[in-house]
Amino acid sequence: MPHDDARPLLAANWKMNPVVRADAVELARGVTPAALEYAEAVEVALFPPFCWLAPVAGALDGAAVGLGAQDCHWERSGAYTGEVSAAMLSGWCGWVIAGHSERRALFGETDEQVGRKAAAALEAGLRVIACVGEREDEMDAGRTEEVVRRQLGAVLAALPAAESHRVVIAYEPVWAIGTGRSAEPAQAGATMGVVRHGLEEAFGAEAAGRVRVLYGGSVNAANVTSYVELESCAGCLVGGASLKAAEFSTMIEAVARVAAR
Ligand code: PEP
Repeated sequence: MPHDDARPLLAANWKMNPVVRADAVELARGVTPAALEYAEAVEVALFPPFCWLAPVAGALDGAAVGLGAQDCHWERSGAYTGEVSAAMLSGWCGWVIAGHSERRALFGETDEQVGRKAAAALEAGLRVIACVGEREDEMDAGRTEEVVRRQLGAVLAALPAAESHRVVIAYEPVWAIGTGRSAEPAQAGATMGVVRHGLEEAFGAEAAGRVRVLYGGSVNAANVTSYVELESCAGCLVGGASLKAAEFSTMIEAVARVAAR
């Protein structure tokens, strides 16, 4: 078993969208036909806002589409107003994202907190996509590898290697997220190689082999193939383009075509 699921993963981070419940349900229904058609070749998971988890789960009822939350708290319960724990999420979905760069930049999440969130997700029985990636100033200063290794090391230190089959790492250069400025595939592939190396150091080769490494940052229907055909890339984390059902469906098909090669 190379990782939890041998299929490439296409994960849809809806961020704080859509505003209206009916639109969330419609979006989920819109991507379901393609997800079902290519389910043998591609794993698809949707990450709506917390409040749309239940309606989207209803819309996906019976469909082979994963569902996850965009964040969680590391404590099980307690005086943490506004927070939702990984333990609570386990009744509603199977996945959670930890350490998205918007959480790090806008809400001050630290490497240590990201590790605690990822550990709590595994403890609660969820699968986790932990995000790493350098800011533009860090890239310009030639610090990409150092930053990615630091973020990765912090999260992996909190995770048991025995649970590596439930871990996915998304390499998302911050300067590429939501900017339309996607990383050159070769550049992304080199940094995903750094991630792979860090995984092997932390978990050992066998457990590291069960972890999928994704690319994220302005991935769309026009460029998704150029990432998933990289040896080091086992799928993509998609923001903006995942809010358009037709485009995301085209991306599912494109990933399936690469997987079938
Ligand atoms: C993201 O939110 O993780 C992301 C990669 O966004 P976008 O695809 O819009 O760059």
